[in-house]
Amino acid sequence: MIKENVKKILEELPEGVELEAAAKGRTAEEITEAIEAGVRIVGENYMRDLKKVYPFVKKKAEWHFIGTAEKEKHDLLKRKSLEIIDMIETVDSVEIAMEIDERCAKISKIMPILIEVNSGREPQKSGVMPEDVEELIRKIAQLKNVKIMGLMTMGPRFGNPEDSEPYFIETKKLFDKIKNAGIENVEMKYLSMGMSNSYKVAIRVGANLVRIGTKIFGERKY
Ligand SMILES: *Cc1c(COP(=O)(O)O)cnc(C)c1O
Repeated sequence: MIKENVKKILEELPEGVELEAAAKGRTAEEITEAIEAGVRIVGENYMRDLKKVYPFVKKKAEWHFIGTAEKEKHDLLKRKSLEIIDMIETVDSVEIAMEIDERCAKISKIMPILIEVNSGREPQKSGVMPEDVEELIRKIAQLKNVKIMGLMTMGPRFGNPEDSEPYFIETKKLFDKIKNAGIENVEMKYLSMGMSNSYKVAIRVGANLVRIGTKIFGERKY
C-alpha cells in the first residue's frame, strides 16, 4: 500500500512542491518502501527513531529533523546526529541555533535550517511567534555554521483542514516579507507546511514542502 500511496501523492503534487515522508514510529522497511516509490526526503521527530532506521536506510534519502529541537537536544547535538541530518526544520530560538552552530563548526558543516513559526500563537506549542520571526532570523543569520533556508509551521490542529488556511496564509506572507528583505546569509527557499489532512490547503497558499505521514504509511501510533 505504501508504494501506491506515495505514487498517488507524487502524481498529484504540483511542479515545484516536494514531498517529505513524516516517519515517526515507522520501520526501516516501511521507509525503504516509500523511498523506492519516489520519496526523497524523510522527516523524523525523535532521535531514537532515527537511530533505529538510519543503519538500514542510510543516504538513500535526505534526513530532516522535524521534532522539538529543545526536547531532543541531547541526542540531536551529537556529532554523529549532525553528520547524518541534512536539515533541521524546527529552530525557534537564538540559543538552540547557537548550539547547533557551535557543534557544526566542529565538524566543518553548515547546517541548513528552517525557522519554526507558531502560527497559531498557541502558548504550549514550540515555534516563534510570527511577530518575532524577522528579528530572530536577523540574529541567526550572523552565525556561520547554520544557514536559514525558509520557514516551517504546524498550525493548530483542526478536524476541518480548511480551518488551517488563515495560519498558512499568515506564514506565507511572513515568508515573502523576509524573502523580500534580502537578508545576507538567508535563502528563503522552503516553506514547509501541510500534513496528511491539510497539505492541499497548504499548497494552495504557497507551501513547497509538505510533510505527510498517515496518508503514506497509514494510521500512526504517535
Ligand atoms: C507527524 C507529523 C507530520 C505528519 O502528520 P500526518 O498527519 O501523519 O500526516 C508532519 N509534521 C510533523 C512535524 C509531524 O510531527
